[in-house]
This record gives sequence, C-alpha cells and structure tokens, in this order.
Amino acid sequence: MVYAARLTVLGSLNMDISVTVPELPVPGATVLGRAAVFAPGGKGANQAVAAARLGADAGMPVAMIGCTGDDDFGRTLREALRAEGIDDSRVRIVAGAPTGIAMITVDHAGENMITVAPGANHEVSTADITAADPAPSSPDAADSAGSVSAASNASRDVLVISAEVPIPVITAALAGSAGRALRVLNLAPAPSRAAAAELVAAGPEWLVVNESEAAAVLGRTVAGLAEAADAAGDLVAAGARNAVVTAGAAGAAYCGPRPPAAPRPPADARPSADARPSAPARPAAADRPGVVTVPGFTVTAIDTVGAGDTFVGALAVALAAGVPPVDAVTAAAAAGAAAAARPGTQSGMPRPADVLAATGHRWPVTAR
Ligand code: ADP
Repeated sequence: MVYAARLTVLGSLNMDISVTVPELPVPGATVLGRAAVFAPGGKGANQAVAAARLGADAGMPVAMIGCTGDDDFGRTLREALRAEGIDDSRVRIVAGAPTGIAMITVDHAGENMITVAPGANHEVSTADITAADPAPSSPDAADSAGSVSAASNASRDVLVISAEVPIPVITAALAGSAGRALRVLNLAPAPSRAAAAELVAAGPEWLVVNESEAAAVLGRTVAGLAEAADAAGDLVAAGARNAVVTAGAAGAAYCGPRPPAAPRPPADARPSADARPSAPARPAAADRPGVVTVPGFTVTAIDTVGAGDTFVGALAVALAAGVPPVDAVTAAAAAGAAAAARPGTQSGMPRPADVLAATGHRWPVTAR
C-alpha cells in the first residue's frame, strides 16, 4: 500500500553554473578557473528532488510549481525533475523570461560567492498556486495546529513553500482555510524583516529557517543549538504553529504548539545505539517549554550545500506520512547529515539507504 498524501513544492528552479578558482576575485579583478559545471538547482527544485528520493519507496507523489523560461536551461531543468519522477506539469513556461541561473564561484577552501539571476522565478504568480493547494486527501488527519497524532499515523497533503518566489505569492499560498494542505514555509532566503514578520504572523503550520535566516527574521544573532532553541520558541510566539531552526552540524531545534509528548516511536524509527556508526542524535527537551533539540548526526562532511534543502524536503515527506513532529525533525536531521556527507547538491541528496549508511538512522517512511 502507498500513501495517499500528495506533496507539492512551490519554489524556484535555477541552473547552477559553478566555477572553481584558486582564489575568489576582488572587485574589478578577473580570475581564471576550471571549466564551468552546469547542474540543476534552485531551492524549490532541490527540495522537490530530496522529497522525491525519500518518498519514492512509499509511493508518495511529488509535484513542483514554478516557472522557467522557454529556453534550453528550462528544458533541462524540467527534464531533471521528470527523471526523479516529479510531476512538472505545473511548472509554467514563461515566454520572454530567461530561466533562473545561479553563478557560483568556489575557491579551494570551499568559500564561495553566489550571484542569482531569478529570471522566470519572479514570474510565479498567485494564479499558479491555485492548483498547488489541492483538496486534502485525508482532511481529518491533522488537528488545527498541524500536529498529527502518533496513534493515527495519518497522512496529509503538504505544500512546501520557499522564498525565492515573489512575496505576494507566498502570502497567498499561506492563506486559506484549515483542512487544506499542511504548509511548510522555508523562509529562505530571508526576506526583509517586516515581510518576514508578516509571513510568520500568518501562522504557517510549520516554519523552517537556518541560523542566519532566524537571525534576519528575529533581528538578533542566532548561533549554536541553544540559541536556535530560543529562536524556535520565539518564532512560535511570533505566529508559527511549529518552528524549526537548523544549526548545521550542531543539529536542529524544534518548538511545537505545546510540549511534545515523550517519544514513543517504533524501535526502528529512532536512532538506536547499535545501528548507528556515529554519535547519537538524542532529542532533548530544552529549558524552554515545548522546545526539543535534536543534536546533529556525526558525519564526515564533504559538501554541505543542499543540506538545508534536503532537511526541508525530508521533513515534508515525514510530515506527509504522518510521522510525529520530533521524529520527523530527527529523520530530517539524519537526511541533512547524509546530504552533507555526499558530494554535489541535487546529486548528493540521499535515498533512504544512503541515510542509513551515513548516519545509522532508519528513514521512517517506507511502503506499508
Ligand atoms: P542550510 O544548508 O540551510 O544552511 P543547515 O546548514 O543548518 O542548513 O543544515 C540543515 C540540517 O542538515 C542541519 O540541521 C543538520 O541536521 C544537517 N547538517 C548540515 N550540515 C551538517 C553536518 N556537517 N553534519 C551533520 N549534519 C549536518
């Protein structure tokens, strides 16, 4: 049996053009690098690919909403989605707008400079999202706070939204009556503080940000797991029903609408000491009520670009499958760690077997 829940990603598609150079150029300088590498990217497309790989065993359908130009890059990006089994029928082709590109310059130490030309991504309109918010396949599966009970293990349609599309489109995607798809808002890149405050106040069921995005939204430094935990609590106080602040190798902090119940998942859905070759990620209650920290899984990081997008795609799959919140965040942290342990952005995004191999954590969403 497969899950009835559908996962839709509203976001950007970019062609990433990367050049490795001996050292990053200063303004006005020209540096010679190696041959350019072209690879499909964009936060939305990355999240869709991560979700498709982690939901495939469970037969979870993934669709993408976005825009490309009517050009070769656009055709390549749409083909890349289809190759992952992602429904691209609602990726609109915009005549006269170039497909988005990201120009990435990387030095030998891994330091980078990125210039994004959004092109067609800025053409995504509110009309595009009507079809992105389907009627729920299981309207009673979640309560109004976006929580799914462990006992019901109910699945629910999920709409993932990232911030490389125009803000009015995000606002429209968050609006809507209860009982429709559960919204996971990834406020990346962080918009202006005022726009971010409005979006958080709109009450997304789930908000996911990294440390620098949390800092931009809250207007203060957020560094390390303890400050991430404080930030998650503050983001719930600001309007999000559930908030996650990711903190790179240190892990992630989660704050729910109420103190989460003591973990009681099946044995194979938890990090288990004997199955894990690396340090454990044991969720722990932070001092703040309702906040749980999930320490990072220890891996040898090779390429951390895309870890955050993998985390978001993984979290969405777990929530769509009805995995309880803390377990979903733990599984997403394992997926993010596995992505960091593999080279490439989309090419490094893990499948369930890769998550297990890199972290010892069994991916919880399987065919049932
Ligand atoms: P972003 O890529 O958006 O900056 P993060 O760097 O916070 O996001 O990474 C997202 C998640 O991926 C983290 O919360 C963590 O669970 C996992 N992760 C990222 N980097 C590492 C790493 N070096 N080791 C282990 N886990 C990592």
